[in-house]
Amino acid sequence: MIVDWGKEQYGIGIIEINGNGDKMVEGVIYEFTGNPFVDAGIWALSRWVDKKPEELNEDDLKGIIDDIIYVYLNKAWSKNLFSVFPNNPLTNPAVKDKKERYSKFLMELIEKIEVSEASGDCISCGRRNRVERWGKDKIPLTGSKKFVNYFSYATDGADYCPACTFAVQFVPIVMYACGNMLLLHSNSEKVMKYWSKRTVENVKKQIVAREFTGCFNEGYKNPINALFHVIQDVILHYNERWYLEKPSIDFYHFTNYNQGPDLNIYHVPTSVFTFLAYIPQHEKYFDWLKVVRRGYRYVNWEKIKEEGDYKNNPNLVYNNLLNGKSIIGFFIDRKNKEAIGGWDLIKNYLLEVRNMDEKRINTIKKIGDELADYIETAEDIKTLKKLETASNYKNYRNILRIVIKKRIENGIEDPLFTFDDYVNYLFPEGSLTWRETQDLILFRIYEKLQFWIIQQGKQDEIVTSLELEESQEEE
Ligand SMILES: [Zn+2]
Repeated sequence: MIVDWGKEQYGIGIIEINGNGDKMVEGVIYEFTGNPFVDAGIWALSRWVDKKPEELNEDDLKGIIDDIIYVYLNKAWSKNLFSVFPNNPLTNPAVKDKKERYSKFLMELIEKIEVSEASGDCISCGRRNRVERWGKDKIPLTGSKKFVNYFSYATDGADYCPACTFAVQFVPIVMYACGNMLLLHSNSEKVMKYWSKRTVENVKKQIVAREFTGCFNEGYKNPINALFHVIQDVILHYNERWYLEKPSIDFYHFTNYNQGPDLNIYHVPTSVFTFLAYIPQHEKYFDWLKVVRRGYRYVNWEKIKEEGDYKNNPNLVYNNLLNGKSIIGFFIDRKNKEAIGGWDLIKNYLLEVRNMDEKRINTIKKIGDELADYIETAEDIKTLKKLETASNYKNYRNILRIVIKKRIENGIEDPLFTFDDYVNYLFPEGSLTWRETQDLILFRIYEKLQFWIIQQGKQDEIVTSLELEESQEEE
């Protein structure tokens, strides 16, 4: 039979009509919408058939239906689906012909996908019209259709076009199981592409091994630790110049479970991503891992056998990075007088994440050097102890003033710092940020004098024990 293809152009898409009157969508079905569920679903589809999102066509969508139902009908997956699509044909125990019902639903969605139009009432893409309104059994976190107060204008469901609805059905493929479900959303196509590739690989491995374990699951229960793991996994697995990427990243930690749906949104600052992307190339990368380890709470490191023993404990380094709080303290090991990672590593953190003025960083370093020099030359370990323990701004400034005096007495002509240094760089916000300055100066002194301080400490111990012995002898 000779097929006579007619071509008509509508909007940005192209409809091709063959002699039998069948409609074929040749135009672009998917563009990103900004809706985390729809975008994640588009990436799941794209990676599943290994095509760029904009290249996905009707046949691709049809071709994936059987695969996905095969996966979803497995026990571990069905269990996860209760948290995503409760009461849909796959999760509703009353439905006997699950495969047929869900397959029919998906096929009908494809049939109804219109060629891209300029605008439509879909609340996700805005370029197509809804055909039906959906509740939480089809689109997570929308609500039950009966309870109209869940929806804008009290409509009886959410307006999603068939293409967006179809994409959302594939979200579980790119979800990360972590107590509730974790969903990554980013404006960076590279981040989304690599993460979806990673999760799809995981699901395909399950198929090959015929061992179904549900959504990608690595034993995380703590969503913050999990999201840092996900970011570092993407950065370390795929060789990209990630620090140039500057993505905006959000994580949605949610459950759509019938009893108690819940949602927490975590925004990862771009500066934190850029820092994490750069750090694996730093020569002190292993010191950074040490800093992260110091962030874990309630861990008895002597009893730890494997990562699983602590990876769900709260980590203050991660929590602070996420909340824009300082982690300077975690670089300083006061007990062992160690400056973990050295000045170059912490400087990177200060510049990239804290957005600290470089002149301020250099001034603090210079003064730290001068103080270290003074303490060692004058063998003044007492001043170090005072710098370590000063508990208020006034007290700290006083210690510096005394050092200035002593330096002059010792014939050092260069001032410890100028008035300009003091006002603009050392304590630019006075009592607000003096602790930061105190910590950084201490960091630098430890870096310069660690060995010397430990030696002094040992001498102190010897002196103390000698004194003790003497006093005991006297008794
Ligand atoms: Zn749409």
